[in-house]
Amino acid sequence: MSQPPPDSTPLIAQYLALKAQNADCMLFFRVGDFYELFFEDAVLASRAIGLTLTKRGKHLGEDIPLAGVPVVSVQEYLSRLIEAGFRVAIAEQTERAEDAKKRGYKAIVSRDVKRIVTAGTLTEERLLMPNKPSRLCALGFNIDTQICSIACADISTGELNVRNVPMVQILESLVALQPAELLVPDRMGNIAELNIAEIENYCAARNVQIARYPATMLSEEAARKRIEAYFNIVDFAVFGVSDSASIIALASVLYYIERTQKGLNVPLNAPKQAEFSQFLLMDAATRANLELTETLNGQSTGTVLSCLDDTKTGAGARLLRDFVNQPIVDLRLIHARQDAVEFGVNHQKWRNEIRELLKSFPDIARSLTRLTLERGGPRDLIAISNALEIAKKIEWLFTKVAFQDVEILTQIQAAFNLMPIELIEVLANALVEAPPMNVADGNFVREGYNEQLDFTRNLRDTSHSILLEMEQNLKAETGIRSLKIRHNNVLGYYIEVSTQFGEVLRTDAETRFILRQSLPNATRFTTTNLSEIESKISSAAVEALAQERIIFENLRQMVLEETQALKNLCDGLALLDVVLSIAHIAVNNVWVRPKIDNSLAFDIEDGRHLVVETALKQQNAAAFIANSLNLSAIKNDENGQIALVTGPNMGGKSTFLRQNALIALLAHIGSFVPAKAAHIGLVDRIFSRVGASDDLAKGRSTFMVEMVETASILNQATAQSFVILDEIGRGTATWDGLSIAWASLEHLHSVNGCRTIFATHFHELTELKTSLPRLQNLNVAVKEWNGQLIFLHTIQAGVADRSYGIHVAQKAGLPRAVINRATALLKKLEKGIDRKKPSELLAELPLFAALEIEPEVQKLESWQTEILAEVQALNPDEMNPKAALELVYRLKGMVQ
Ligand code: ATP
Repeated sequence: MSQPPPDSTPLIAQYLALKAQNADCMLFFRVGDFYELFFEDAVLASRAIGLTLTKRGKHLGEDIPLAGVPVVSVQEYLSRLIEAGFRVAIAEQTERAEDAKKRGYKAIVSRDVKRIVTAGTLTEERLLMPNKPSRLCALGFNIDTQICSIACADISTGELNVRNVPMVQILESLVALQPAELLVPDRMGNIAELNIAEIENYCAARNVQIARYPATMLSEEAARKRIEAYFNIVDFAVFGVSDSASIIALASVLYYIERTQKGLNVPLNAPKQAEFSQFLLMDAATRANLELTETLNGQSTGTVLSCLDDTKTGAGARLLRDFVNQPIVDLRLIHARQDAVEFGVNHQKWRNEIRELLKSFPDIARSLTRLTLERGGPRDLIAISNALEIAKKIEWLFTKVAFQDVEILTQIQAAFNLMPIELIEVLANALVEAPPMNVADGNFVREGYNEQLDFTRNLRDTSHSILLEMEQNLKAETGIRSLKIRHNNVLGYYIEVSTQFGEVLRTDAETRFILRQSLPNATRFTTTNLSEIESKISSAAVEALAQERIIFENLRQMVLEETQALKNLCDGLALLDVVLSIAHIAVNNVWVRPKIDNSLAFDIEDGRHLVVETALKQQNAAAFIANSLNLSAIKNDENGQIALVTGPNMGGKSTFLRQNALIALLAHIGSFVPAKAAHIGLVDRIFSRVGASDDLAKGRSTFMVEMVETASILNQATAQSFVILDEIGRGTATWDGLSIAWASLEHLHSVNGCRTIFATHFHELTELKTSLPRLQNLNVAVKEWNGQLIFLHTIQAGVADRSYGIHVAQKAGLPRAVINRATALLKKLEKGIDRKKPSELLAELPLFAALEIEPEVQKLESWQTEILAEVQALNPDEMNPKAALELVYRLKGMVQ
């Protein structure tokens, strides 16, 4: 460590030494009731979260910038700094001032960093989002096999798992795991195919902190030892994780937890190895396009999760988020989840009763972690007792139904059987109903629980009434009615009178009043009697708190002994919350259980888009129009694995594409789906290329992004994949675009063989039906009425006649002159004038000539003219109700 500069004060020298050890963190340096920030940290924090910047003393001839945060409100500041992307090292005083003084008059109290607070290692309720996991992920590599492993820990709940992924799918997995912080080795070595810049870009865009771990410290052997030491086991093989990338990734997570938690043994579950192949894959673009947990503009409303989540607990909400982010391809597990959801659907009263109880089920997984780390308080204990109380009621409700065949419910019941119900009584007897957050606040142990504590408290409290009595007596004796007995931290208890009476008390030779302090408006005294009582009060209060601490500690130990049973209980209830939430949504929105098997079927009857349907309901707009689709790989003219959808802009193509991809996704999380019936063969990957956006940060134009996404689909989709493609080849010249779309379609049909929906405005592509037997043409129905376009949002077999782009442009408010001009141009182009040179076209249609062209009068069909004539001839004032009703029937008949 470098020596502090010679002119540093001892305090600054100590600060600089701690800062040098934690150079990548902002340092909170405890001074009395404040955490102080010096130098650049003070400047940065004042800029980031608006702390007041002052200065204190000089260092190397310069003012030292200073900012401070009161200890009592530190969490609020921490959460803002973490949000702003900082790590904060907290340096505490590690001895009392009195003890420091024993070392010499000038000695300063020693300090040490007790914890580093980072985005991926949070435990406090105020710093955590109830419905989001707080994950720390680490990448470990095996250079020889070119395998990457991702370890993932959530210290707030103890979750720990690891999975191996191909290099090209690191980003995809990170997007699914949504880490708050990512650890990467400080030296990468030669890792082919790793696109670290891509990962860094993702982290920057998502505000995910990146930290480096020392690769040299974590050789495979050292990593193994670290894990064994952490879990206190002799052989790491018991976890069944044996490959070096996984071992290194896990060890680096543990290294970082040890570094940030400074030796506290964070309780982590034994690591679970997840098989990469057990998940349905989706790349980052697909996830973003499908708006699973975030819309394209970063909102959480209007997402799949927002429409699916009616969970009642934080743990349930976190689990459902994982379900949505990580759909599975294990048929057995999917069916098990479906069975549980179906049970919930069929037992409405039971479901509602349980959901009502879950509403007040506390987040005990997080309480348990805080209790283990000695950061928990009485509220965390009472949470355990409340949780058990509720779980007991749910257990009772489980006895009211027969669910023997429903595997998930049976598992949850097993968790009930092991729950430590004796804790309910122990904790409820010991603690008051609404205890304070912190042990230091005291008064959380119930009266009557502990005789000794009651005795001390009585002493403390009666001393208070003695003080009151003493104040009354002093008032009577001195005749000073404004006399008060007060307390502050510096003087302790004192008698206060105004200055004028102060003189009287002071000059009275007989007086027992000993002067403590003279202020401009008041004089403060004490007496021997007051000092005695004071020492009794303070020792009783200190004693009472010490006794409460011991009781807390005993209860904490009792709870921690049951950690595993409690964790099983909260895992079980989180799962119950999720399946009942899905069941509830399924009932309310009339969803069905999809048939899901190993086939290549994709047969949806009357499917709907869950998000658009919810939005339409909320706006009280027209009902969502359901549409069917059959992509089951059957070789006949009606069905084909590729649907080519044409139709007008705004007709509903994108909605149709996405709704089917989302139905596939929902089926793979074990959910019911918005449809009348659904049969889906397992899907290994969903690919979605919809909408156009550029990625300037990566130096990619809109068209380039489109092509990169298309390339990824054509290179990777298998016969089991499900692909939606919206508009390929729009971002370039017409013939280039058409050719690319054409060739891509052929490739998907004949090489990839995947179930695909392909929306396009290139009507020429519909001709491919003659050469591609498994292609079906669909179009979105539309009606033209009096020059107006009516979107029916119905998907039907066949080919659309045109795209109605100009109608939509008119609706959007393009100037009339432009619409007229475009209409005229379209006519010429449709007549084949496009084969002429542009100069010839211009000659025929001089610029803005259309301004003079009157809009063409719409030709009405004969039945329309009849209706118009009938309506024009009416005189409503002369019609009686019967005639009016007859007219309505007549008009209706004419339309049919
Ligand atoms: P474009 O070609 O311009 O991209 P599109 O054909 O893809 O248009 P969508 O974006 O899918 O059209 O749909 C436009 C709007 O129509 C949606 O925002 C939605 O409000 C409504 N809509 C789409 N499908 C339906 C439906 N099945 N039922 C009711 N409303 C629908």
